[in-house]
Amino acid sequence: MSIALFDLIQNLSLTSWGIVVGSALAAILSGVIFWQDTTKRSSKFFFLLGLVDAAWGLSYASFSGSIGTTGVGDAAVLLYIFSALTPFTLFLFLYAFSDESKVIPFKRFLVLFSPFLVISAILKMYPGFIVGYQPLLDGVPDRIAFGIGFPIYIIYALGFVSAAIYPLIQKYRENAGIFKAAIGELLTVVLVSSTTIFIVSVAMPMILHGRYEFFWVGHVVAIISIFAIAFILLKYNFWNLKVIATELFISVVVLIFIAELFMASSPEELSLEFIITVLIVFSSSFLVGSVKREIQSKEKITLLVRDLDLMSKRLKILDKKKSEFLSIASHHLRDPLTAIKGYASMLEEGSFGELSLAVREAVGKIFTSSGHLITMISDFMDISRIESGEMSYSFANVDVKKLVIDLADGMKQSADRAHLGFHISIEGKDDATFITVGDAGKLRQVFSNLIDNSIKYTPSGDIYVALSKSENGKKILFSLSDTGIGMTETTKEKIFHKFSRADGVSKVYTEGTGLGLYVAKEIIRKHEGRIWADSRGEGHGSSFYVELDAKK
Ligand code: ADP
Repeated sequence: MSIALFDLIQNLSLTSWGIVVGSALAAILSGVIFWQDTTKRSSKFFFLLGLVDAAWGLSYASFSGSIGTTGVGDAAVLLYIFSALTPFTLFLFLYAFSDESKVIPFKRFLVLFSPFLVISAILKMYPGFIVGYQPLLDGVPDRIAFGIGFPIYIIYALGFVSAAIYPLIQKYRENAGIFKAAIGELLTVVLVSSTTIFIVSVAMPMILHGRYEFFWVGHVVAIISIFAIAFILLKYNFWNLKVIATELFISVVVLIFIAELFMASSPEELSLEFIITVLIVFSSSFLVGSVKREIQSKEKITLLVRDLDLMSKRLKILDKKKSEFLSIASHHLRDPLTAIKGYASMLEEGSFGELSLAVREAVGKIFTSSGHLITMISDFMDISRIESGEMSYSFANVDVKKLVIDLADGMKQSADRAHLGFHISIEGKDDATFITVGDAGKLRQVFSNLIDNSIKYTPSGDIYVALSKSENGKKILFSLSDTGIGMTETTKEKIFHKFSRADGVSKVYTEGTGLGLYVAKEIIRKHEGRIWADSRGEGHGSSFYVELDAKK
């Protein structure tokens, strides 16, 4: 057997040697690609394709090396068996590539594999039925003889190649962009190589009465297409170049060390080199592992960023829709409510005749509640305006002192009704000016909201409103203190956020929405001013401050 192998090697032509080396390289390349991601089905089947291709190449070398010997018939059969395995593995690879998640169930796999088994059995058991080898006879040169069963072989091969290409064509149609480009190039390689292999391995031998001179072209094409597929998929980032480069480098180093083993001149040298080789194999597998992990975590981060981006886009759309809805709903609610509040006020004042005490009290409640509802709706409308960027401001000179005094007059009545003391102090002489550039209506809304809050959240005690200027006269400071429920440190931070209220605050005041301070902050931000809160803790009252630029 070893002598036969030796003869065979001696007989090999340069072309056959080329095919042997090329096949080995293709198998190594496909192995390295499989190694960089053993979980991917497509890289598994690509490795299989590389191995089958290599086996087919070797079977060709064995066939051409056996010509003229008694083993040539068997070698020809082997060549056709491996050649039959190629379309099947090509099918498996392209099927997995077209959809990584599509797994072929084992039973179906067996059904798909069985034609190959049948054909191999026929090739082996009935030489001549599909193909046979005809040695030199009566001056007719040796040749491959095609039997009556050969069409079965052709149908089988064409069937699997078409089945392999079909899902790829479908994917090509469905996809766009870079994936389409990659599939397009892959399809070109598969189509060109299959056609060439068919021409040189089937069509030409049939025309040339069984001559096999061009068989080697088919093998060269097969080897090139393995490299071309690897190149395309690396180019389009289906496989990771960094990992593959590391693996290739390591494989070369390990191969060199293994070769060195054979050249050792003494047992000591051999054992030393063996230990070094083992150490290198171990350390390199760690190196590859860490490169892989790094790349995987990077890929995960990229995916997460993409998902986050998508989510935020979706959320923005939802938020916009919500604002639109709020705006429409609020408009439709506010008008009838204003009418209710107006009529309640007229009833309370006796415009429609004297009311009994009980009725007046009930009407008073309708008046107050509709007032709360209108404030709430105004807040909602402000939110939707702020979020859609439609909050309009008309800036002009504003006399903050006048604005606060006017406001305080109205607010004092509310404070009186709640049995709270209301005090206002304006720093400086009577002629001190507090002019800022701003939107008078919006600033009024902010101050009134703050005072209104103090009345709401102060069960008993006093409210102090003060207006002052910074030492250099460049800032106006509105400050408000109450003796109410106060706030914790965390509450102080969060109350300026949308829909944010202190824990348990609804026991003191049910109707709050947690929007007033958010709107106030937005308005003051537009004025390039500052608004903040302070408190000595729960039960110790709160202070609110608004700082605005004084007009030069
Ligand atoms: P609302 O009053 O409708 O809840 P705001 O945005 O005006 O909404 O206020 C947010 C939260 O800030 C209130 O729910 C309350 O917890 C807290 N808060 C506001 N003003 C005071 C205050 N003067 N004293 C104590 N807590 C306050």
